[in-house]
Amino acid sequence: MLVPEIVPGPARPEGTVRESMRSEGTVPERNGRPLVEARGLTKHFPLRSTLLARALAGARDRTVHAVDAVDLEIYPRETLGLVGESGCGKSTLGRTVVGLYPPTAGQVWFDGQPLWGRRSLNPRTLRREAQIIFQNPYSSLNPRHTVRQIIGVALAQRGVPLADREAETIALLRRVGLNERHIDQYPHQFSGGQRQRIGVARALAMHPRFVVADEPLSSLDVSVQAQIVNLLQDLQADLGLAYLFIAHDLSVVFHVSHRVAVMYLGRVVETAPTAELFGNPLHPYTQALLSAIPSVDRRHRRQRIILEGTVPTPIEPPPGCRFHTRCPRRQPGCDVEVPALITVAGQGPSAHRVACHLYAPGEDTA
Ligand code: SF4
Repeated sequence: MLVPEIVPGPARPEGTVRESMRSEGTVPERNGRPLVEARGLTKHFPLRSTLLARALAGARDRTVHAVDAVDLEIYPRETLGLVGESGCGKSTLGRTVVGLYPPTAGQVWFDGQPLWGRRSLNPRTLRREAQIIFQNPYSSLNPRHTVRQIIGVALAQRGVPLADREAETIALLRRVGLNERHIDQYPHQFSGGQRQRIGVARALAMHPRFVVADEPLSSLDVSVQAQIVNLLQDLQADLGLAYLFIAHDLSVVFHVSHRVAVMYLGRVVETAPTAELFGNPLHPYTQALLSAIPSVDRRHRRQRIILEGTVPTPIEPPPGCRFHTRCPRRQPGCDVEVPALITVAGQGPSAHRVACHLYAPGEDTA
């Protein structure tokens, strides 16, 4: 199996990702019911053209098909990695899953309760239970607030009495590798990694069970990335958190995820336990993504698959299989019929599912 490298250069104890059991197929204990479940989840954004553009160029309103008919489950204490090229809808899916965006269609359940419609989960409960760690720690923290104020807002939302907030803030800072000296400092006085730790502390202040980590490493140095990965893994082990870990770096996803979902142009095209997906990718898009990972082990090098053409716009996604305009294994009919996400091996959390006309349910995938 191809094992991606995560940290180039000399190993440093504080700057390397510790050996993860996850990529070897170890999965957390599951009580059978997902903590988060999405069915047919769709999010479209209308693009309204201006009156002038309509008058001069005949422009019409259009729609961004950011997320289309996505099914996924995330179990307690597990990390689902979500990968795909920039603009494929990963962040929109993450925000829709935690209720920041209302879906255009479909539904999300949190611990069995729907987020939308009648008998939906109380939004205040959801805000406590589900949190986001944002991509950019520079812009996600209010520059005019001290750490005390930033975390204090979250503690107030959770109903922590004013008299207890300082002690809780210090405990949270220590939990993420900072300390009480930092409590009255402003975001600009911290390094990028420290700011991301503040973002993690703010999320933890709500006592969440589910965290969407939206590209939390992409603006950090490689050695700092490893420290944040270790912190997130420690928190998961200690607090039982479930993560949706969004990233475009497959090496990181391999090391942190129990399962992986691959997105292309708004749709999930393949999902499987991490070792299964990296060892036996089925969808031509996944195969192309994995072929681009550099490996120092010559035995496991794959032949690089270069995809032709550019990613189509989500404003006018191609009909049929959305990948057909770039797929090296395109078949007659791929441009007409939308392939369903079907199970080709395993079941439940161990299922390997793929959306491609090359595969039929129960087909031998070896
Ligand atoms: Fe390629 Fe057709 Fe499969 Fe789409 S359905 S990935 S175009 S072979």
